[in-house]
Amino acid sequence: MSLDSMKKTKIDPFGATLIEDYERLYKEFGIQPFKHLLPKTPNPLAAMRRGLIFGHRNFERILNAMSEHEEFAVMSGIKPTGEFHLGTLMTAREVIYFQQQGATAFYCVADIEAYEDNNIPFEKSEKIAVGNVADLLALGFDPKKGYIYRQSKEERVKNLAIIFSRGVTLATMKAIYGERHMGLYLSALIQAGDILLPQLKDFGGPKPTVVPVGVDQDPHLRLTRDIAFKFRKKYNFIPPSSMYHKLIKALDGSPKMSKRSPMGYFTLEEKPKIIAKKISNAFTGGCPTAEEQRRLGANPDICPIYDLCLFHFYEKDEDLVTLYNEECREGKILCGECKNRLIEIVTNFVTNHQQKRSEYINQAREILGIKKY
Ligand code: SF4
Repeated sequence: MSLDSMKKTKIDPFGATLIEDYERLYKEFGIQPFKHLLPKTPNPLAAMRRGLIFGHRNFERILNAMSEHEEFAVMSGIKPTGEFHLGTLMTAREVIYFQQQGATAFYCVADIEAYEDNNIPFEKSEKIAVGNVADLLALGFDPKKGYIYRQSKEERVKNLAIIFSRGVTLATMKAIYGERHMGLYLSALIQAGDILLPQLKDFGGPKPTVVPVGVDQDPHLRLTRDIAFKFRKKYNFIPPSSMYHKLIKALDGSPKMSKRSPMGYFTLEEKPKIIAKKISNAFTGGCPTAEEQRRLGANPDICPIYDLCLFHFYEKDEDLVTLYNEECREGKILCGECKNRLIEIVTNFVTNHQQKRSEYINQAREILGIKKY
């Protein structure tokens, strides 16, 4: 058995996802590489240029709609279990990107999934949702060119889930999601409703729709594309396209940031001093001593500090290349200095973002139809 074939791959939207080799997703799950489409993608995001957006399903259809100036939609959302973190920031940036390229943008607050998967009561998730939507608006989402909604309040989504349930067997759900309680199967059908909502007559009928998500959400796309095919005669659905980004490492160096480890991630709402402390304490790819690091260099490929720069906080590609090669691998910078530089960038970003977000709280409440408590 080769070392490569021993690398683990597990994709589970309701549990732990582990991907040690993204290349294997092309062979094992039929995801297509994105890099061939990069030259045709207008105004690509940094995440596209840097290979963080690595895969897709049928993204050619979206490129075509963009180049022909045809109607298309982008659809994604957030599970309101807590404040915006770096994973939800990535998805929000992608949604806003497509909105700026001409898509009608749909953003779902997945409160049914938050209940079914995380046992968050609706009274609690609606308070969290206000903050999440304020974050989205502060990042640049234009509500005039989009639709933001809560799953539990959107009857059309729930009706679609009821209709779709006739076309899906328990065996299919088990094959995609494993043995789960019925609520999770129900929330998966509701997500299929979310993804296909933009194609209902109320929103102008069938249209190409792209769903940008972390790759751990791919099972929902496989289910929904299958449902779109089964119900094509009734609705004329166009199978949704998708775009997948890689998962950012946790600050402790583990492969995926998770809320289960509070020192392994930070949110956009945390006090900058706390964030600075978390970054200062983070694992790095550095050497045990400064002398060794200057002599041997460090390893950015295993370093969550490098990941933060790569995914979110270094705007210029050339600065990132300098950090990776000259500074880190050649030992020209030590990890303490590298962390301090990042702390300054993150502190500026978070402070500005928190100020903007506070200005959008009332608008977020209005959009979601939630009264002030
Ligand atoms: S120098 Fe920076 S990027 Fe390199 S290992 Fe240290 S903290 Fe990570």
